[in-house]
Parts: sequence; structure tokens; C-alpha cells
Amino acid sequence: AKVYNLDNWGADLFSINKKGNVCVHPSSNSKNAIDLRALVDDLIKRKIKPPILLRFMDVLQGRIASINRVFRNAIAENDYPAKYQTFYPIKVNQQRQVVEAIASYGKRYNIGLEVGSKPELVAGIAISTGNGLPIICNGYKDAEYIETVLFATRVGYNITIVVEKLFELEKIIELAKKTGIRPTLGIRVKLSSKGTGKWATSGGEDAKFGLRMSEIMAAIKMLQEADLLDCVNLLHSHIGSQVTKIDKIKTALIEAARIYSEMRKLGVNIQYLDIGGGLGVDYDGSKSSYFSSVNYTVEEYANDVIYQIKNICDEAGVDCPNIISESGRATVAHYSVMITNVLNTNTQNLMPDYEQILEEMEKPAPTVKKLLDIYKSIDRYSLREDYHDTLQLINEAVSLFNLGYLTLQDRAIAEWLYSKIIKKINSIVEKIKPIPEELQNFQLALRQTYFANFSLFQSIPDSWAIDQLFPIMPLQRLGQKPDVMASIADITCDSDGEITSFVGENGRSKFLPMHKLRKDEDYYIGFFLIGAYQEILGDLHNLFGDTNAVHITFNKKTGYMIDTVINGDATWETLKYVQYKGPEILKHVRDNLEKQVAIKKVSIEESSHFIELLDRTLLGYTYLGE
Ligand code: PLP
Repeated sequence: AKVYNLDNWGADLFSINKKGNVCVHPSSNSKNAIDLRALVDDLIKRKIKPPILLRFMDVLQGRIASINRVFRNAIAENDYPAKYQTFYPIKVNQQRQVVEAIASYGKRYNIGLEVGSKPELVAGIAISTGNGLPIICNGYKDAEYIETVLFATRVGYNITIVVEKLFELEKIIELAKKTGIRPTLGIRVKLSSKGTGKWATSGGEDAKFGLRMSEIMAAIKMLQEADLLDCVNLLHSHIGSQVTKIDKIKTALIEAARIYSEMRKLGVNIQYLDIGGGLGVDYDGSKSSYFSSVNYTVEEYANDVIYQIKNICDEAGVDCPNIISESGRATVAHYSVMITNVLNTNTQNLMPDYEQILEEMEKPAPTVKKLLDIYKSIDRYSLREDYHDTLQLINEAVSLFNLGYLTLQDRAIAEWLYSKIIKKINSIVEKIKPIPEELQNFQLALRQTYFANFSLFQSIPDSWAIDQLFPIMPLQRLGQKPDVMASIADITCDSDGEITSFVGENGRSKFLPMHKLRKDEDYYIGFFLIGAYQEILGDLHNLFGDTNAVHITFNKKTGYMIDTVINGDATWETLKYVQYKGPEILKHVRDNLEKQVAIKKVSIEESSHFIELLDRTLLGYTYLGE
């Protein structure tokens, strides 16, 4: 567990059992556990193929419960006279079954939904129909968006439309007048406080959304004139996602609470202060302000939110607002794990026996001979010098080969000797503490590429787009010391599809410790904390589609229950996104083949077997099979 820093990022939801397999728990520190490796074996028996996205619905519920619990505690501790509510921003993961689960479990906590576009609005309305779930509407809005929200209000939905821009307010007033419907309004403010981390520009003076103070004054005037000021019910602010430092959050809270107090004093009857998203997740377990981490806990966040807002309101002598947070990442990041198989690319047994070849060589090329001598003689005292000489000799081998002085066989032997020397240096260096800085780098030369059956662009796009770290670790053999330092490459034809930065024992690491693959033994790895943003940001690079997804709940008797299996995209489906139609492809190919059959260039059997193969591929999974 230590080499993967599991105890620090796992939020007590993951552990390693006696068999050396990773387990997931329904809630933090629960005694119940599901052995992930055993689960994967069961899924394979059910013919569900990797990569598989595992969604643990109890973990999702646990996160909702714990966010609400810490806010309830903070409210009690601070004698806060109003309430807290989470509005789940569906952009973070819009999957219907996921939002439905959040809505249904979250009902007891008065959870609401936040939407930011017309499609999300429709999804929000679909989920809220029949159960009264409140909705907050953010994002740019056109007349159609506004009119839909107005009529949603008329027909009984609890829906708040947040004004992001003054021109939006003009349209809202115009449509409210035309329809005679009085909307529930929110106003988004542009705080001068900024967040930290990758999304810091969501806040601050040059943020994309929100009204400046002068615009807020103009909005109040416009609303007064239209006799709609009493429709304003909410003040909204958002300083960016994954805010890494708590002091930035505090500053923003103080500013938002000040604006709230002043607006209350101006007679705007705001009941809700919506502090947006930003509650971060400690992906690497370093508890630092590095952007894949956060330097605070959910408890600290909740305490600060309640304390700061109360403090400002008490000072200003205004009623405390009900508080809303749109915490998406913190709600869903933990609940899903993507697992997949590592492809056994070990071809050691196919390699020539260079040891023997060298022995039989009468007179090896001088460069090869020098490398061989280093290999034989290297020890901890000659280490540094020998390392330098090795680097120089391997470069020399390439130059000599290019000039025609070295055969392919010589160069192959030089390459083989180089890797033997590096391995030997490593075994010596491991015993020297501390490792000299210069010698740390050459460990990179030892890194092996493990190919895993997934697309980085589809399943963890933020790893590629913004270098975000996600914890990755093998699901089994964790009782054994990992003996390979690996990078993880995906199966796209893109050299960017490789992960070379990992969550490690001391924060970040350039290697993922793995085990030597064994013949005829499957080896699975898991990608953790990927529930937020990754699914929807994932793309179809190389036409690798959605992965299979399995919803799992814990069960006391049987260990677990499979609630539902959602098939990943078949090849015809990803082709359809780019305007190819499966049946048309088959017809086109078949018609053409018939011409070849007619002139006897292709036999009937060959032609039909080819069509059959194409058909099977179209219907099959986009990822690698056996
Ligand atoms: N609310 C708004 C308006 C947002 O733009 C975002 C995301 O950036 C969120 C909420 C969700 O933020 P988080 O996932 O950090 O909770």
C-alpha cells in the first residue's frame, strides 16, 4: 500500500486484503469489503470484457452522506441559524443512472441539481419530474432556454435561473413580461478573489461569468423598474474547480458574504448563498497545494464556509442565508474505478541467447568488447565513471552503425549489454543511500512500458490534457515486492497515450511499481478516483468508445450485487459518430467482392469468411479481446 500511497488518497475506502488484492469498502472504514480482483474474475466469467468501469453506488451514497454530515456538524458547532444544501452539478457526470442514484439517495438531504446548458436542463427536468427536486440553471442562456425555465416554473418545477450576464437579464425581463410568469432568480457575481490550481481563471476580475459590482447595481435597478426585484432569491459565486488552498476559499467566502450582506441591506430579499464548486479531492494523497491535491479536508471546508459566512452576516446585522454548494468533484470522484488487463508483451523467450552468441564470437567489435568489460567489472566504486562510459559507448555504437562500421548484430549486442549494465547499476545503487542525484535519473532507462487495454483519451482524459494525477495500482500480488518499474501505455496509436507520472510513496513518481508478468496469468490494474469529469470529457480517439460499465452494490450475504451492466460502445456505434453505417459498409464490401468472385480471383468461402469477420468486428467491443 505504501508504494502507491493508498492510505493517503484512499479516504479509507480502499485497502489491501490478506491475499494481496485491492478491496473497496462501502463507506470509510467499513468492515465490509469487495475484493476487486475476485470481482473482476467474476465479471470475466459473465463475459463482461475489460476495460470495465466499476461504479460503486454505496461509495457514491457515502460521499453524499459525509458531505452533508460535516455541514450538519459545522452548523451545529457554529449555531448557524439556517440550512445547507448540495446542488449536484450534472456536468461532472451526467450519466442518467448516476444522476438518478444521486437524486434518489440525496432526497433525504434535499439535494438539488445544477445545470449549465440546454441539454443539461432537459436532463435535469427529466430527473426532477415527479419528485420535486430543485434545479439551479447556470451557463449562457438564449430565449429558448429562458422561456423553458419560465414555463417550468409555471407548471410547478422548483427552478432558479441564475443571471450570468446583463444581456441575459434583459431577455429574462422581456420574457417574464410577455408571459406574465414571475421567475425565481439568482445573480452570479464576479468575485475579485481567485481560486488556485488549474481552474483559477473561473474566478477573478477576468472570469468568463458573473456580474461586476457596477453591473449588480444596474441589475437591481432593472429589476426594480420591471417590478421583479422580489424574484431574486439567490446569490451565486464560483471561483473554480479543485481549489487547492483553503485560504483562497476563505477569501472568496468573505467577499461573497459581504456582497450578500450589502445586497440584503439594499432590500434584495436573498435567501440562498450559493458558493459554487471548488471543494477539491486529494488525488495523490500529498495533502499539499499541488493541483492534484488539496491542503484541507471536507470538514475544514465546511467549518470555514459556515464560520466565515456567519461572521460576516453577524457583523453586518443581516440574517444568515441558507447555504448551497455545488460540490460535484467531491461527490463523485471516489465512486468509480476503471479496471483493465495489462497485455502480456513479455517476449524474453523469443530473444536470441546473446550470452552464448558473445561467447562464440571470435573477436567482438571494440565497442562491444568495452561494454562487455564494463559489465563484468562494474562495482560501487567504479559506478559513476562506468555509467558515463556506458552512455558514451552506446552513443558510439549508434554512430558507428550509421557509418557502416558496425553490423546489425553488433549493435543488437551493444543494446543488450547496455540494458544489462543499467540493471546491474540499479542493483548496486539500491544499496547506496542516499542515491546520488545524477544516478537517480538513469533509473528511467530501466523503466519498462506496460501496455494496458484502454484509451487514456477515453477513460482518463485529464491525465493527458492537464497532467492530472490519478492513483493507479495493480489489483493483485500486493503482498509481493514489485520488481518492475513501469510506465503505462494505452492502446491508441498516439505517443501521448502513455502515463509517465504516478502517485507514489513520496508524492509524485516517474515509475509505477509493478510485478513481472507471468505466463498464462492475467494481471489487472485499476485507475482510481475517476468518477468526476472523466467520463464525459473522454473522447473517441482512434474510435475507442465508451467502456463497459457495471453498477455494484454491497450485499451482506453475497458480498456484492450487480445492479446493472451497461454495454460499452460496439465498433458500429463509434463508427456511426463519424458517419459510417455498419450495414452500408457490409453491402459495399460484399458488392465489390462479388465482382472478384465472378472473375474467380476470390473464392466464395474466402469472401463470406471476410464478410463474417467484418460483421463480427462491427458488432464487437472496440477494445482488445484475447
Ligand atoms: N458550479 C459551477 C458553476 C461550475 O462551473 C463548476 C465546475 O467548474 C461546478 C459547480 C463544480 O465544481 P466542482 O466539481 O469543483 O465541485
